[in-house]
Amino acid sequence: MKFIFLGIYLLVTLLRFALEWLNLRHRQQAQKPLPAAFAGQIDEERLKRSDAYALAGDKLGLLEDGVGVLLTLAFLFGGLLPWYDRWVSVQMEGFIGQGLLFFALLALVQMLVGIPFSLYRNFIIEERFGFNKMSFKLWYADFFKSLLIGGGLFALLAGGSLWLVKAAPQSWWFWVWGFWSGLTLFLMYASPYLIEPLFFKFKPLEKVELEDGVRELLDKAGVKAGKVLQVDASRRSGHSNAYFTGIGKVKRVVLFDTLLMQLDDRELLAVLAHELGHWRCGHIRKRLIKGQLVALFSCWLAFILLKSGILPSWLGLDQLSFVGQVLLLGWVGSLAGFFWTPISSWWSRHQERQADQFAIDLVGSGRQLASGLVKLARENLSNLFPHPLYVAIYYSHPALVERVLWLEQGRVNSDTEGGS
Ligand SMILES: [Zn+2]
Repeated sequence: MKFIFLGIYLLVTLLRFALEWLNLRHRQQAQKPLPAAFAGQIDEERLKRSDAYALAGDKLGLLEDGVGVLLTLAFLFGGLLPWYDRWVSVQMEGFIGQGLLFFALLALVQMLVGIPFSLYRNFIIEERFGFNKMSFKLWYADFFKSLLIGGGLFALLAGGSLWLVKAAPQSWWFWVWGFWSGLTLFLMYASPYLIEPLFFKFKPLEKVELEDGVRELLDKAGVKAGKVLQVDASRRSGHSNAYFTGIGKVKRVVLFDTLLMQLDDRELLAVLAHELGHWRCGHIRKRLIKGQLVALFSCWLAFILLKSGILPSWLGLDQLSFVGQVLLLGWVGSLAGFFWTPISSWWSRHQERQADQFAIDLVGSGRQLASGLVKLARENLSNLFPHPLYVAIYYSHPALVERVLWLEQGRVNSDTEGGS
């Protein structure tokens, strides 16, 4: 059994690395002439720069991934897990205490391993290409804030779940799921008020000229309780973006201040229309429901497998503590997740098309959104030549060249659903 799992892990790892290599080769070799919409915006020089930027990221990603693979192999297949499992059980008394210690130390190691990569990414790569706006001081402040918030949430989630497992040994899968989904919902409502302001400053759009256009667009889109805000992303990075978040009464569209600097008013309104499309098509609600159903099924399956006592044999072991088995299950789940990725990416790209279609209908043309996206690609040094297979598996948004062509034509997609 142990060698079957080792084989699957090595196969998935090989596939992942092969995809990265394929994507890299494709970017460097298969550069075709860009469509007319890109003319005057992205020249040879830009393409060289964006290739160099992507290459620097690829190299670091490869190294980080490689370290992760070696650690995983040593921990699960090199005998570290059973040793660590016994060591934790000697250090602490009690089911909940042992469980918390077990996961906390592992999370700590994972965090420490990640620090040099994060520093290198921000202060070497992003710095070299002019994206990094962060000082060391801000990096440390962010780091410690995340550590505190993450630690608190971890203690609450893990402690609460372990307590439920102990209190309801025959039905914990349902209660743990309920606890997690309740907390997820709470965080969706509370995070814009409690957590995000610790890192970012949100304020109403500063561009007064935009106000009428924004109000008109909200009315036309039929979005009432929505807020349009800008965020001071430029304090950390020169990258630009926009996103939508929240359900019920806390819906909001957030535009990076960098985006406001890079796009003209008509392009900004088109980006806003796209984000409004996500609301009107009910994408947040659908994602939430899908996530909850998957979580419920996972909890139930975990319960069945943990009860069966079969798990330690997967690694050729006689026994493992409850939390040791949970860790093993999480790892198997992440392996299975690789095969689920293309489906969820496809679904996400489908929703992006729906939001694009909504923007076309609302603004009357896809032209402004297209030219906005081209500018964003230029400013962010985006990869314009991803391998189609890489796009199919990983991309949450349609590949840019294809998307811009589609927007320019303003094609009406027959399988687009209306608003909700
Ligand atoms: Zn979108």
